[in-house]
Amino acid sequence: MQHSTSTLIRRFAPYFRPYWRVLFLDLFCAGLTAACDIVLPMLVRSLAQRGIDDISLLSVRFIANIALVYLILRIIDVIATYFMANVGHVMGAKIETDMRTALFTHLQKLSFHYYANTKVGQLMARITSDLFDVTEFAHHCPEEFFIAGLKILLSFAILCTINVPLTVIIFMIVPIMVVCSAKFNHQMRKTFHKNRVQVGEINAQVEDSLLGIRVVKSFTGEDREISKFESGNHDWLQIKRENYFWMGAFNATTRAFDGLMYLAVIVAGGAFMLHGAIQPADFMAYILYVSTLLATIRRIVEFAEQFQRGMTGIERFFEVMDVQPEIHNPAQPVPLSQVQGNIHFKDVSFAYADDPDTPVLHHLDLDVKAGQSVALVGPSGGGKTTICNLIPRFYDVTGGQVTIDGIDVRNVRLEDLRQQIGVVQQDVYLFSGTIFDNILYGRPSACSEDVIKAAKEAGAHDFIMKTPHGYDTYVGERGVRLSGGQKQRISIARVFLKNPPVLILDEATSALDNESERLVQESLTRLAKGRTTITIAHRLSTIRSADKIVVLTEDGISEQGTHAELSARNGVYASLDRLARGFD
Ligand code: ADP
Repeated sequence: MQHSTSTLIRRFAPYFRPYWRVLFLDLFCAGLTAACDIVLPMLVRSLAQRGIDDISLLSVRFIANIALVYLILRIIDVIATYFMANVGHVMGAKIETDMRTALFTHLQKLSFHYYANTKVGQLMARITSDLFDVTEFAHHCPEEFFIAGLKILLSFAILCTINVPLTVIIFMIVPIMVVCSAKFNHQMRKTFHKNRVQVGEINAQVEDSLLGIRVVKSFTGEDREISKFESGNHDWLQIKRENYFWMGAFNATTRAFDGLMYLAVIVAGGAFMLHGAIQPADFMAYILYVSTLLATIRRIVEFAEQFQRGMTGIERFFEVMDVQPEIHNPAQPVPLSQVQGNIHFKDVSFAYADDPDTPVLHHLDLDVKAGQSVALVGPSGGGKTTICNLIPRFYDVTGGQVTIDGIDVRNVRLEDLRQQIGVVQQDVYLFSGTIFDNILYGRPSACSEDVIKAAKEAGAHDFIMKTPHGYDTYVGERGVRLSGGQKQRISIARVFLKNPPVLILDEATSALDNESERLVQESLTRLAKGRTTITIAHRLSTIRSADKIVVLTEDGISEQGTHAELSARNGVYASLDRLARGFD
């Protein structure tokens, strides 16, 4: 653990703040249940005392009184238990909801850099199962400790009133019992954890093998797969054996200590009774208190596992919450509403945070005038995508500045800046929902006429109308299957609806077949009209008409100009173009 338990609890405590009244009531109910448990041996004691002292004093009325007191206590206990199980759990769930919202809100702010280095599956676990452990912890932890503390203190005090030396003997065993049980419990937990990891391994292996079943069969690899699987499965059995070894040791030790306690009560209590130092009725009450005490200790030792799981959940929660978003809004943002679309890279240097010693861009200057179409070409890894990522501030420059209409992009609010920029990428992501919703994402306030207009402009309307429910057709995992080109045109419609003055087209057609590419290219040409457009293109045929072609190599911009100028120059572009024509 990186954080100490006390630090984590201190940081977690504020999440209880909105619910302090419920927490207080929950603890009050916990106190009531503890008190009810504690009172029973006293009632038995007074009943037995009377019977032993003089049986003729034991009347039906007395028994009925005792029974009535017990009945009332039990009713209180039932109500309190119901409150704790219901309202207490709901409080835990509310805390989980708050934490999940906080985590999700935080995740929305984190930068591309964070996501480039984080597995989404890991985050999913943090946001679901880890937080569930926190709910249980949030509800049970205060309650369990409070009940245990109260019961141990009360029983200690009451036992002392009966017989101090016997109580001291009993309470000397308690810490040894707690330490031993906790130790075995810890070992058990470790093997539980190993078990969880191994189950994950088995899952991963089954997934891998079944997803690749075609390869397995074509290479007749079934036997190899089975033996790989068997080895993982066998490891699981070994871990389970270890697991049950410690579980057995834990259970046996707990039982042994139970026995030891009772033995001490029988031997020492018997001896005290023999010398008249303890009355038989007290002795009975004593045994009952020892039972309560043992049950309490066992419960708290068992709770230790839940406590640990909750702590792990809280720690994993704060690990993500502590990641600072790298891209911030400026303290005093410059207003940016309708921009012209002049983009200027002034002496820009940039290196990715994971590799700060290898700058991707080195003192780069690039001027894109409003309404111009600029194409970035060059070998893979030259930094074309990186340049485009700097404009909407997906990353921040490490030197120099990027300006939009003369204003440093770092001086305007991120929302204002990104509102002005539309990005069309090769990997189209459509959210699960209808086609309509997906286009509407471009401008949530748009009306349906605008959505249809945008789809028409993007050349998507006709195929949308052919889908089973038109604009209401579901896309995504369980929805209709769209081709790459169709998805791309929906994503273009989204940008048409957004209507930004600046456009970034990042290899938007490179994964498509010829026919789809032609259709998407037509849509893109319509989209680019009247906007500042920066295109990253692998196929040079699509950008020959660009106002400016910028050739990027690992040494920076090697040449720039129109197609005609660069062809005449007979440099890098001309040779790339010759190569491309060979393929076209
Ligand atoms: P292009 O778009 O011209 O192919 P990129 O801008 O994608 O080039 O990449 C430029 C260089 O930056 C490459 O060497 C690439 O390995 C590196 N790079 C790209 N993205 C990242 C990232 N997220 N983290 C670290 N390095 C990166």
